[in-house]
Amino acid sequence: MAERSYFDWNATAPLRPEAAEAVRAALALAGNPSSVHAEGRAARRLVEDAREQVAALVGARPGDVVFTSSGTEANMLALTPAIQTAAERRPRDKLLISAIEHVSVRTGGRFVPDAVVDVAVDGDGRVDLEALTQALAAASRPLVSIMLANNETGVVQPIAAAAAIVHAAGGLLHVDAVQGAGRIACDIDALGADLLTLSAHKIGGPKGVGALVRAREDIHFPEPLIRGGGQERGLRAGTENVAGIAAFGAAAAVARHQGPAEAGRMRALRDALEAGLKGIAPGLTIFGAAAERLPNTTLFGAPGLKAETAVIAFDLEGIAVSSGAACSSGKVQPSHVLAAMGFSAPLSRGAVRVSLGWTSSETDVERFLNAWTKLATALSKGQAAA
Ligand code: PLP
Repeated sequence: MAERSYFDWNATAPLRPEAAEAVRAALALAGNPSSVHAEGRAARRLVEDAREQVAALVGARPGDVVFTSSGTEANMLALTPAIQTAAERRPRDKLLISAIEHVSVRTGGRFVPDAVVDVAVDGDGRVDLEALTQALAAASRPLVSIMLANNETGVVQPIAAAAAIVHAAGGLLHVDAVQGAGRIACDIDALGADLLTLSAHKIGGPKGVGALVRAREDIHFPEPLIRGGGQERGLRAGTENVAGIAAFGAAAAVARHQGPAEAGRMRALRDALEAGLKGIAPGLTIFGAAAERLPNTTLFGAPGLKAETAVIAFDLEGIAVSSGAACSSGKVQPSHVLAAMGFSAPLSRGAVRVSLGWTSSETDVERFLNAWTKLATALSKGQAAA
C-alpha cells in the first residue's frame, strides 16, 4: 500500500510496540489466572502487574481498578442507580450527564430514561457549571457523568470545578476519561472524580479492553453486569482477557512515561495543521478553538463542506480522517456535540475530525494540507458540496 497518514487516533490508536510484545508474551502462557498452580499464578501475575500499571496512569490504587471488555462496558458498570458509598446506601435518584457525552453514557447505563438529565454546554463546548448547579438542586442523590475531554472537539472539561459542585450537593462524579487519559493530566484525586473510565485502545493498547477505576474503597458497585465465576472481585465474571489486559498495562506504562513529551510534539503539529487549514480556506471554523483542547484534536467545518465527501476525498489522497458527525446505518446525522454547542445542522454535518498521535509527523501534516488545498479549491468551485 502507498504511504498513508493516519489521522483518526480518537477513533483508535495503533498498538504500541510494547503492547504488542505483551500480547505475544501473554498468549504464550497456558494458565488461567484463577488457577492456583504455577501456570495459573504466572497468568495472574500478568493481570496484577497490568492492574498496577493502569492504576499508576491515573494515580489510583491497584485494588480500585476493575478490568472490563471496553470503555463502553466500564461506563455501563458505573452508571447504575444502585451504586453505593459507605455514607449513602439508598439508590441514586438521577443521572446528570453533560449534553456532549459519548453515546455509551448518553444511553444512561442502568438508569430509566426519565431519570437521565442533560446538562447544557456553552458555545465553546464546555459544560455549563451554572446549569450543573441548577440540575443538582433538583435531585436528591445524583450521580453525575462528565467526560474529561470530548471525542469530537477535544474540548477539555472543567472536571475539578464540577467535582467540587457535585460533592457540595452530595452527588458522586463519574468521569469518562477515555479520550483524555495518556494525553493530558488524569490523576483521579486531582480531578476529584469518584469513578473513572478508561479504554486501552485509545492509548495504544488493544481494542476490547477497558477499566473502571474508583477513587476510594467505600464506593461499592452492588450490581455486576456479568455474574458467574466471581472474577474482578465479583464485579465482572468471566476468565480475564489476560493478553488484552497485559497489553493495556504495557500501553498505560508507556503513556505515563512518554505522554507529556508526546503531547507537546502533537500540539505543535496540530497547531501547524490548523494554521495551514485556515490559511488555505479563511472561512473555516475550528470548533471549540476558544476552549482548552486535547493537544491532538482538530474538528473543523467550512461553508459547503460535506463530511462524507471530504472523508472519501482525503482517503483517496492517502489520509485517514473521520466525520465529526455520528454515522449510523449509512446516514450522517448532525453531531449532538455541535448541536449542543449551538452550531447549525448544515455546518455541523460537514465537520471533519483530524486527530493525531505519537507517530504523526510533519510529513503527515504536509500531505494533509496538500490534500486540503485540492479539496478547498474544489469547494470554492462548488464541487465538494455535491
Ligand atoms: N467514551 C469516549 C469518550 C469514547 O470516545 C469512546 C470510544 O470512542 C468510548 C467511551 C467507548 O470506548 P470503547 O471503544 O472502549 O468501548
